[in-house]
Amino acid sequence: MTGKGWRFDNSYARLPAAFFAACPPVPVAAPRLVIFNHELAHSLGLDFDACSQEELAALFGGNVLAEGMMPIAQAYAGHQFAHFTMLGDGRAVLLGEHVTADSARVDIQLKGSGQTPFSRRGDGRAALGPMLREYIISEAMHGLGIPTTRSLAVTASGETIWREAPLPGAILTRIAASHIRVGTFEYAAGRMGPEGVRSLADYTLQRHYPELAGADQPYLALLQAVIDRQAALIAKWLLLGFVHGVMNTDNVAVSGETIDYGPCAFMDAYDPSTVFSSIDRQGRYAYARQPDIAQWNLARFAETLLPLLDSDSQKAVEIGRTAIEGFSEIFQTYWLSGMRAKLGLSTEEAEDKNLAEELLVLMQYAGADFTNLFRALSRGNLPVELARDETFSAWHRRWQIRLGRQPQGTDAHEIMRRHNPEIIPRNHRVEEALAAAEAGDIEPVHLLLDALRDPYATRGDRQGYLDPSVEKNMPYQTFCGT
Ligand code: AMP
Ligand code: MG
Repeated sequence: MTGKGWRFDNSYARLPAAFFAACPPVPVAAPRLVIFNHELAHSLGLDFDACSQEELAALFGGNVLAEGMMPIAQAYAGHQFAHFTMLGDGRAVLLGEHVTADSARVDIQLKGSGQTPFSRRGDGRAALGPMLREYIISEAMHGLGIPTTRSLAVTASGETIWREAPLPGAILTRIAASHIRVGTFEYAAGRMGPEGVRSLADYTLQRHYPELAGADQPYLALLQAVIDRQAALIAKWLLLGFVHGVMNTDNVAVSGETIDYGPCAFMDAYDPSTVFSSIDRQGRYAYARQPDIAQWNLARFAETLLPLLDSDSQKAVEIGRTAIEGFSEIFQTYWLSGMRAKLGLSTEEAEDKNLAEELLVLMQYAGADFTNLFRALSRGNLPVELARDETFSAWHRRWQIRLGRQPQGTDAHEIMRRHNPEIIPRNHRVEEALAAAEAGDIEPVHLLLDALRDPYATRGDRQGYLDPSVEKNMPYQTFCGT
């Protein structure tokens, strides 16, 4: 018996057969547990304490299945850099849906688990570095309060995989509210037509938006709810300096979680054009373009729903268009309310947006570190290197006057500390930890994960983790599909 507490109920496998292919993980040569998230396991009601490392490695390496697992590869399509493609889980399998004691349903997925019917020419495998990277960043995102998939384990496969160079292979165990993507709807529309979309939409309503299932127009309500969650999500990304890097429609979860950590990274110096991904040469998925791209992706989602929105296709297009156009304002509202919190504002004034945007312009001009500047402001100060700058001090005075108009007793700094983290996963510290792990030393990964815990707390023990790399002007590049 591997682990206690599994309660599988595999609802996705009850959808029409074209949505998935039964597909067990491909066993690996010598599975070895590299890291395991005991805290997450406990929060899911799973207890692996009595399991040996070997048992866990066999399970999360894909060599054995627990009772109730029913591995499938999910079919989906997607617009990748605006080009439509049929995809599907080419290197992942959904082991099953675990239902927790408080009735939360989560996907248990292995990523890097071998070839599937959707692998095209890929080997179905993943490398240790990128899987640990997803583990670190997703757990950091969770700590920061950004909706995200979680990481339960990374298991080395004991096999070499071939990219530009030979690399150690590994498998990530990912926990997600679901893996239903905008691309899954595109697949349903393209492959199965309106009835396929209807069955997926009904399933999605039941799984993620049960309160809307009885609405007058449930499919419009679904569209609006997905728009709302994406707007809230992208606002959080921007407010914390996150760049996803590959916002293709197959990487957009309708649950509203951040999903598919490839070439993502957090920005150091504030620059709206920040891009990390080596393949994003046009800057399509740059930091500040993320809201527009989300809206573009949501338009692809709306298109799949058109036949369900109205039997008159003209009317359906109008309904869809209106909903999509609403995204900008919803996003702005989330963003501005988040910015007010970052600036310690508990009341609303018309000039607040301008105050925030002016600060961002100054930061961009000065190349100021996004995270550290807001954290310094949370202590009431500008960072020392900017305090003598006349434009910053003028802004600072304006902000102080604005704070002065708040009700007596408002603790602006307290609000700010809850919205401006002390720590983000700094790129050079992530790279350093991954390099050590690839060389066989996992300790720096544990130290980094520990530093990333409670990111809004003021802790004295994470000094070395708070600053960007001293090697300024060294562009950071990330890679996906590895
Ligand atoms: P991603 O860039 O990770 O979002 O992946 C895009 C698509 O490529 C998905 O359908 C993946 O399943 C597939 N894919 C990525 N890497 C591999 C691989 N090594 N073998 C097979 N399919 C892959
Ligand atoms: Mg993907």
